[in-house]
Amino acid sequence: MKFNTKTIHGGQMLDPAFSSVMQPIYQTSTYAQKSPGNNKGYEYSRTHNPTRTALQNSFASLENAKYGIAFASGLAAIDSILKLLSPGDEVISTSDLYGGTYRLFVKVFEKYGIKFHFTQMYNLDDLSSLISENTKLIWLETPTNPMINVYDIEAISIISKKHDICLVVDNTFASPYLQTPLDLGADIVMHSATKYLAGHSDVVMGALMLNNDEIAERLYFLQNSSGAVPGPQDCFLTLRGIKTLHVRIQRHCENALKIANFLNDNKKVDKVFWPGLSTHLNYKVASKQMRGYGGMLSFTIKGYDYEKSIKFLSKLRLFTLAESLGGVESLCGHPASMTHSSIPKNIRLKSGITDSLIRLSIGIEDADDLIDDLKNAFL
Ligand SMILES: *Cc1c(COP(=O)(O)O)cnc(C)c1O
Repeated sequence: MKFNTKTIHGGQMLDPAFSSVMQPIYQTSTYAQKSPGNNKGYEYSRTHNPTRTALQNSFASLENAKYGIAFASGLAAIDSILKLLSPGDEVISTSDLYGGTYRLFVKVFEKYGIKFHFTQMYNLDDLSSLISENTKLIWLETPTNPMINVYDIEAISIISKKHDICLVVDNTFASPYLQTPLDLGADIVMHSATKYLAGHSDVVMGALMLNNDEIAERLYFLQNSSGAVPGPQDCFLTLRGIKTLHVRIQRHCENALKIANFLNDNKKVDKVFWPGLSTHLNYKVASKQMRGYGGMLSFTIKGYDYEKSIKFLSKLRLFTLAESLGGVESLCGHPASMTHSSIPKNIRLKSGITDSLIRLSIGIEDADDLIDDLKNAFL
């Protein structure tokens, strides 16, 4: 099955009750048992729910994985991965990453004796020099948030395999339409399905996809034991969103290309961070491992400080100032004071998250209208 068919049919089957074409929302916490333990494996909805099963099968199908596991949020999915570790274990992560992931690492799991190292993953010698016998996990976000850096998954997986380290890729920004990390050597793929997978800014949802039987069993155990599971209504909404994933991402990419070129030609703009520009630092790697360059773009404006940047954002009409990304509508954000405010300023600046950095999640509106909106904000 090709990707554009998988979004609609992958892992799905007709509902056995009435052969409804759409997956029903099984809004139930529990199931009648003919005798104790006898009900096709459905006993309690924290453990199993048919709407969630359909979504998990879809997740697996999209990432060419054997297993898909759904969580109540992207962070709940990350939380479960970290619970695979023990005190004394070490994690190496990309230094620019989603602020909430950084906060979960440092403010929650350091307390339980897990040590985190942060590094740029361009220079693989830097990565190798941080590996010790305690290193159990490499956390790779690519493209990264908000600098849209792209790291070489295949090259990093060669290192992780050599040292028997689990490689996790946060694939939220790319979506499986553009990049399937398991095919490039990753062990686990993580998504904030809140973003492109669900795609309509109406649900919070997390996903893990993987092939390894033993790790999958431990993660299903954690999903049930910790209980951060999504409700059936949210599973339905995510399934419905996924059906148009391929057409949405095509348009996100087309619009992003037009806007990247517009910004690149604008004299007021300092730098444009979008890996589809041939001048971008990561153009080569992105062209090798991605099937398109995505709808996330950041840029800086010459001479802008905090106040001027906020004023620019307030002039936008079609781009809504909001956290999150990946929906059909365009959003804008100021990473330094919004998504990444929980990262200390000196660390933030080192990653390039300055006060003039503006992040755009480019929606699927008409690109000309979006460009007019930006033109007006520059006046
Ligand atoms: C939003 C996001 C997360 C967190 O996911 P939630 O669904 O908000 O919990 C993790 N990684 C990236 C790259 C994100 O954009």
